[in-house]
Amino acid sequence: MIDVQLADRVKNLPPYLFAAIDKMKDESLAKGVDLINLSIGDPDVPTPKHIVEAMQAAVTRAEHHQYPSYEGMPAYRAAVADWYKVRFHVTVDPKSEVLSLIGSKEGIGHVPLAFVNPGDVVLVPSPGYPVYPVGTLFAGGEVHLMPLLEENSYLPNFRAIPADVLKRAKLMFLNYPNNPTSAGAPKSFYEEAIVLAKKHNIIICHDAAYSEVYFDGEKPMSFLEVEGAMDVGIEFHSLSKTYNMTGWRIGFAVGNANVLAGLGKIKSNLDSGVFQAIQEASIAALKTDDAVLADLRNIFQERRDVMYEGLVSLGLKVQKPKATFYLWAKVPQEYSSSSFVSHLLNNAGVLGTPGVGFGAPGEGYIRFALTKPTERIKEAVDRIKKIL
Ligand SMILES: *Cc1c(COP(=O)(O)O)cnc(C)c1O
Repeated sequence: MIDVQLADRVKNLPPYLFAAIDKMKDESLAKGVDLINLSIGDPDVPTPKHIVEAMQAAVTRAEHHQYPSYEGMPAYRAAVADWYKVRFHVTVDPKSEVLSLIGSKEGIGHVPLAFVNPGDVVLVPSPGYPVYPVGTLFAGGEVHLMPLLEENSYLPNFRAIPADVLKRAKLMFLNYPNNPTSAGAPKSFYEEAIVLAKKHNIIICHDAAYSEVYFDGEKPMSFLEVEGAMDVGIEFHSLSKTYNMTGWRIGFAVGNANVLAGLGKIKSNLDSGVFQAIQEASIAALKTDDAVLADLRNIFQERRDVMYEGLVSLGLKVQKPKATFYLWAKVPQEYSSSSFVSHLLNNAGVLGTPGVGFGAPGEGYIRFALTKPTERIKEAVDRIKKIL
């Protein structure tokens, strides 16, 4: 037997903070607990029927059985450009300003490989999606965390970034509507980010995975709607959350042609694009009637209302989400993030995610994902009531 040693980049990965919770979850499942799992950001609602049917038709066509191009079919990229035009009034060239991705996670994880040298800094929001720091570390870059704090409306404070860090910064990740805090960003914030990026030559990568999961009719804006955005960065998008297609693995990046060409260089050397039948189905998805999407949004809005009102009635301090399917709640004072999650799991059979798992500034918070039917969410609130 040879001595199988992991590479340093894997050995040095940040500790997996959900391991203890995973173990407790498995233990309660083994005991037969009727667990209400509100910890996963994966919608329980199926993909709309017209998208599944488009896939069924496309999969039988032999031309789709061959290697796709890494950058995406022209028809898929054109559908993305049309969607941007209709949804955000942003005009992009489908040839040079749109790139297909095997889910946006793929693009987010790979983008630092294209631009980050050892010693370069990547600015990363915290709490945040773990792929931002991990993609940075895999590329040999240095992570500088930008805390997202309640008192700053969960926006990073750019003035708090030290001058020497800004000098070495190559890339910055932003994500609104935000996972895990559910916060949104105003236009003025993006304007500030663009000024900073131009001054210090920083590429902005805005993750807009939740732009279509919005409530009360208040549509979030695209980073690319802001003047100057196309000069400094790109926006990542996903069909996963918009169309309940997490399992299909397709997304896209839109924006600055030079940045997309760099990311494309990495992709053309590492992957071979998205199965074309999935791209065909995604073209159908991008043309979905808004009434269908409104129905999907209403499902999450009803759940949000039940969970939000329920938690507030129990005396918890909760940010009311205007978008995303997450609730970000302060844990009662006598608990830490993790001890509160354990308390709910062991005594109420309700599983949330400890905020600290998304980064140190998430300590003191718990995230609930609205990825279970309204009845189960009601039941979760009732059970939490009994133990608080
Ligand atoms: C779900 C999610 C994604 C990516 O989803 P894909 O399925 O890989 O497209 C990206 N960013 C955030 C913040 C997410 O929550």
